[in-house]
Amino acid sequence: MQRTLKAPIDCVGTGLHSGKRVAIALRPAPAGHGIVFRRRDLGIDIPARFDWVADTRLCTVLAHPTIAAARVATVEHLMAALAGTGITNAIVEVDGPELPILDGSAASFVFLIDCAGSVEQDQPAACLEVLRRVRVAGADGSYAELLPPPRNAAAEIVPGLSARVAIEFSAPAIGAQAIALHVTPASFRKELAAARTFALFANIEAMRQAGLAKGGSLDNAVVVDGARVLNPSGLRMEREFVRHKLLDAVGDLALAGVVLCATLHAHRAGHALNNRLLRQLLAEPANWRLRDGALPDFLQQPAAPPRAAGASA
Ligand SMILES: [Zn+2]
Repeated sequence: MQRTLKAPIDCVGTGLHSGKRVAIALRPAPAGHGIVFRRRDLGIDIPARFDWVADTRLCTVLAHPTIAAARVATVEHLMAALAGTGITNAIVEVDGPELPILDGSAASFVFLIDCAGSVEQDQPAACLEVLRRVRVAGADGSYAELLPPPRNAAAEIVPGLSARVAIEFSAPAIGAQAIALHVTPASFRKELAAARTFALFANIEAMRQAGLAKGGSLDNAVVVDGARVLNPSGLRMEREFVRHKLLDAVGDLALAGVVLCATLHAHRAGHALNNRLLRQLLAEPANWRLRDGALPDFLQQPAAPPRAAGASA
């Protein structure tokens, strides 16, 4: 069934890239509404839909197709927390162009959602079942693919995302890591929610000079220098890095606007491939079918014009 928040809840934090203090409020929304970001300072709504993704270089940025200033950056961890806790309808009010990074994982957002509580609504949640393999690849050997979901002993599809994700970094502190997980509300909370975003120490100065990561610190990211993790308290869990990559994928793929029922295989993929994967999946009606529910209201509106800049970077 569709779910929304029981009550509104507020929070204040810092934008990872802007370094600016930003306030957000998560609010309940009616069945069929979907997840919609609302720029409170501009009075403009930005639906959480894959075809409004305008940049994927360091985080996932949603932007209004014709009003460039109406954007919301770093949506993936909140989207993962909403998807991971089964919230299908919510309004996310935000005062500026970037969501707060909080602790760099989805755990703080899950905590907020738990504080607000959630309620089941009177309509089934639509499940978008992947019917055939869709694959996108990067020039560097990275790829991401969606395949039909696994089936249980009764030959019924297993709802949700069954993922196998791998990463490979030359920094020995990360190295090669893989995780296989059927993402459910329980497994999301236990295995993924607390995994933090990460950065290589060598890249941080370049990011700062490019005007990015101004709000980044050891309080909201794992920083790696060669074989060392620079955070004094170390890692929160084993293979925290690849768990975070899967967390990002859960958030990015939630921009389908409906629950994906699929198998995901990803190798060294990131926000760009995740978004290209959704675009390719949904470009061809023979790739998928909708089960149980209906598309959220905003996906029944005409699609935004395609964007080139940044979206496939
Ligand atoms: Zn992330």
